[in-house]
Amino acid sequence: MNSILNADLHCHSVVSDGTLTPEALAERASANGVELWALTDHDEIGGQARARAAALDCGMRYLNGVEISVTFLHQTVHIIGLGFDADNENLQQGLRATRGGRSQRAKDMAKDLERVGIKNAFEGALQYAGNPDLVSRTHFARHLVETGVCKETNEVFRKYLTEGKPGYVEHRWASLKDAVGWITGAGGMAVIAHPARYRFTANEEFALFTEFKGHGGRGVEVVTGSHSAAEYITYAGAVKDYGLAASRGSDFHSPLESHTELGTLPYLPGAVTPVWELLAERIH
Ligand code: AMP
Ligand code: MN
Ligand code: MN
Ligand code: MN
Repeated sequence: MNSILNADLHCHSVVSDGTLTPEALAERASANGVELWALTDHDEIGGQARARAAALDCGMRYLNGVEISVTFLHQTVHIIGLGFDADNENLQQGLRATRGGRSQRAKDMAKDLERVGIKNAFEGALQYAGNPDLVSRTHFARHLVETGVCKETNEVFRKYLTEGKPGYVEHRWASLKDAVGWITGAGGMAVIAHPARYRFTANEEFALFTEFKGHGGRGVEVVTGSHSAAEYITYAGAVKDYGLAASRGSDFHSPLESHTELGTLPYLPGAVTPVWELLAERIH
């Protein structure tokens, strides 16, 4: 295996904040030529068995996946786990704890929105959550679009759901050390998701990469739906400098909302070590 592989190792189903089932995603990925696939729902691995079965049915290879919410230097950072044993109790317990605060956070968000005249947003968001344990800002965004408060989900995030806006609630997620530890302890590989999306200074990003590596993290997303072409090049250079492997994933959520389709991003640049080269034994 080398960098020329249609691997899509980042996307979401109804088990978190995507709109398609694991089976529909598998079919869509396969139709787009994906050869190696991972479903990476937020803080939840309840969709893995279905995703794996559907992937194999479609003739794709599969890696177990998850995207864990982490708080690092007062920002939310996402850590992807790949190729772990989904039966690992410590990982399951860690994810349960990470999900635990979501319902209260969602109620607090709804209270905040009420102060600007938006009523019953918690009940509204819950209607969009395929998994009631996993209410996310995306579900609020869909509800506020459906009820005509905003035209599209991007606008909801801009006006209501981001730092400093009514409806944004500060939340403490897992620590970087714990998230990387849960993944690697379950035999998987930890990967920093969409690094260009964070608003870290150069020094803070250095701290993220070096601490991540110190905890046993081994990969970084280089080609992702959240990066520009210039950022592919920046982070291809960064993974080489830090001695980390490179990953590729669309971060697809929904046919209507996502600008990046499953399996349609450029290949990884040739000079990097792809994560799948280090995960060969975990791919089924
Ligand atoms: P949460 O985990 O509840 O904080 O929700 C985070 C999710 O919100 C991300 O995984 C994205 O799916 C979505 N999201 C974050 N920012 C935006 C944005 N600007 N536009 C659309 N969706 C966003
Ligand atoms: Mn999401
Ligand atoms: Mn993410
Ligand atoms: Mn994601």
